[in-house]
Amino acid sequence: MSKLTRRDFIKLFGAGAAAGTGLFGLTARAVAANAPHVVVLGGGIGGSTFAKYLRIADPNVRITLIERDAQYITCPRSNDVIVGFHTLEDITFDHDTIRDKYDINVLIDEVAGVDADRRQVRTAGGQNLSYDRLLVSPGIDFRWEAIDGYTPELADTRIPHAWKAGPQTLLLKQQLKNLPRGGRVLIAPPVDPFRCPPGPYERASMIAEYLQKHNPSAKVLILDPKDHFTKDGPFKKGWERLYGYGTDNSLIEWVAGSEGGRILAVEPKNMTVEAEADRFQADLINIIPPQKAGKLAFAMGLTDSSGWCPVDRQTFESKKMPGVHVIGDACIADEMPKSGYAANTQAKVAAWAISDLLNGRQPGEPTLSNTCYSLVGSRYGVSISSVYELHEGHIRNVPDSGGLSPIDDNPARPVLEAVYQKNWHRTFVKDVFS
Ligand SMILES: Cc1cc2nc3c(=O)[nH]c(=O)nc-3n(C[C@H](O)[C@H](O)[C@H](O)COP(=O)(O)OP(=O)(O)OC[C@H]3O[C@@H](n4cnc5c(N)ncnc54)[C@H](O)[C@@H]3O)c2cc1C
Repeated sequence: MSKLTRRDFIKLFGAGAAAGTGLFGLTARAVAANAPHVVVLGGGIGGSTFAKYLRIADPNVRITLIERDAQYITCPRSNDVIVGFHTLEDITFDHDTIRDKYDINVLIDEVAGVDADRRQVRTAGGQNLSYDRLLVSPGIDFRWEAIDGYTPELADTRIPHAWKAGPQTLLLKQQLKNLPRGGRVLIAPPVDPFRCPPGPYERASMIAEYLQKHNPSAKVLILDPKDHFTKDGPFKKGWERLYGYGTDNSLIEWVAGSEGGRILAVEPKNMTVEAEADRFQADLINIIPPQKAGKLAFAMGLTDSSGWCPVDRQTFESKKMPGVHVIGDACIADEMPKSGYAANTQAKVAAWAISDLLNGRQPGEPTLSNTCYSLVGSRYGVSISSVYELHEGHIRNVPDSGGLSPIDDNPARPVLEAVYQKNWHRTFVKDVFS
């Protein structure tokens, strides 16, 4: 460790690099009561990774993590729960390990307000905490107004989005099980940018595989506002191989934005969706609404007119509120996707930058990365990966640094990628929660 520069350290901290670490030999230790205090709002993927890695970067800081829910359910692999490969329990984690192992004060409570001038956080449970630096990773919220007739109540009861893993994931699973013979599943992905760009297409694929086995005359219809989606080449090749995509008997049909795929309204009574092209009736409707930064980011005044949070890309410090850093889905990170892997990488960069700032050092120039595996079938995976650096203050893909699954005739490749996907989740959640 002694010969590593801070820049090397950040580079080494690609997701999974220190997975399951006892690397630094950290055990709970007393931090001085007057040590700088860093408060973390949101204990999802971004916030939990940040708290852990700040402790690794800086043994002398006090850290408090405030999270609303005692248990966190990962969205990664939640599509598997819908088709019955996993249970919700398999993808549920708590904060006990990072609390005990990394000496983090974990508060299960809702953040009710932040006074940025006084540097104070107030919780719904009546706690007031002062901070020296604040890290916010609140995730996403939905633009309900974008689709006429779609409401949070409808999503909870009849037309789930299941874009935050939990009860709606189970509702979708039940609806799929109850789908009538030869029924139609309609999936409506949102416009960019949104959480997990390949997620809707992975979901459509997994549902197609389920139908192939349990209800082979049923179909999946994707109504998309976009003409392209991430990994669309390898996805469509997989659909051709597995589900007859492009033939009259295809299990999956995809309607692009230029073909009128954008949906405008939903009528739950007759389970009909109005799209630009036509009206479509379905037995199961999964609308994933357009998105924006989580409510907390809006309440704190961290967002701009785009609905996301502008940040200094070197430190993830808010451009609207000094002393407050925003990472994960809520922040504007240019060419980085809104993924758990991206949130995890940004968390490590922010941890090191905040440690530098608290100790009077100049933060280093970060290198960030992302890899995203998706399943086209339970034994058919595809992936994309990228490395990013700062260019004139923006996060840019380093040319030729990553890549997309090649489309070739090697039958072993997608099988291996499906195995990598499963192993990725296993190491990833260890990196975040233990
Ligand atoms: C179906 C699906 C599949 C996915 N698969 C992958 C994948 O394979 N790989 C991948 O990299 N990413 C994947 N993702 C994306 C990934 O889940 C997100 O990008 C990631 O969770 C973002 O982390 P975050 O910290 O920004 O937000 P979150 O993980 O959502 O964390 C936000 C946290 O803040 C808390 N919070 C919010 N407001 C408050 C408040 N007022 N008080 C207290 N707590 C609060 C919430 O309870 C939550 O725990 C997938 C997403 C979906 C929907």
